[in-house]
Amino acid sequence: MPLYTCYDMIRDCAANRPEGWRFFVTEYAPILRTLLEHYRPEAAAEWPAKAPEMLRRFDAAFFAACGPRSERDFLLSLRQQLLAWLEPHDASDPRVWDAFSHALAPLTLTEKQVVWFEVMGYGKDDSAAMMRMHPDGVERIRRKAAEALAQHGGVVDRDCLRSSVAALPADGCCEAKDFFDWLDGRITWYRRDDLERHATHCWRCVDLFCRVREVSRLAQRRKPLSAGEARPLLAALGIPESAPRSWSDRLRFWRRLTRTGA
Ligand SMILES: [Zn+2]
Repeated sequence: MPLYTCYDMIRDCAANRPEGWRFFVTEYAPILRTLLEHYRPEAAAEWPAKAPEMLRRFDAAFFAACGPRSERDFLLSLRQQLLAWLEPHDASDPRVWDAFSHALAPLTLTEKQVVWFEVMGYGKDDSAAMMRMHPDGVERIRRKAAEALAQHGGVVDRDCLRSSVAALPADGCCEAKDFFDWLDGRITWYRRDDLERHATHCWRCVDLFCRVREVSRLAQRRKPLSAGEARPLLAALGIPESAPRSWSDRLRFWRRLTRTGA
């Protein structure tokens, strides 16, 4: 039997087929919960009761708009859509952004990612894991950034900074695939040098690189629901637990049985 993948799920959910929704609920409801626990812990506390409402928001139109894409690419879309619902207001402020980006301009790409994970609300250990570095290194970079911000009168208003970076215009920016390839070690030295040269001076790409690291870790640590855990969610959403066999399938099955018995 061929393996059912994220590509199949996107196609089936876009066509409103129950097998797609079953896979989505089983595989990705836990990831949505993890994201919610990080970005809106107060909403995550109501998870069992609110889960169907949250899952229903990802409708066929969302999947149709996704188009065919790999799992980590899909997780980037899932994460962005969830955050757009959680943070619908535009909190950007050019003055706050200018002070922040000016103060931290001399930092390297690695240092900027460490700072950006802090803006994304991650603690030292989570940031270190996503950056594949020691927590002490994260701590050092955070101190250095805090000193630079203090000297320039910059403030870290996370909502404002996240909104501000989303509003930055793209200018020769990198694609998510570039950063996935970077993390997977499937990139030439020259290409990596190109990406680094651009992203070091582009917070839009720093943000994308951090999100790529975030969803890569989510994909790595995924823990799909067991049948028992998925059952109440599927029932609440009106999704049949298993595909009903068609009459032709049943007939074929019965014929095979009687042939074997003859
Ligand atoms: Zn860029």
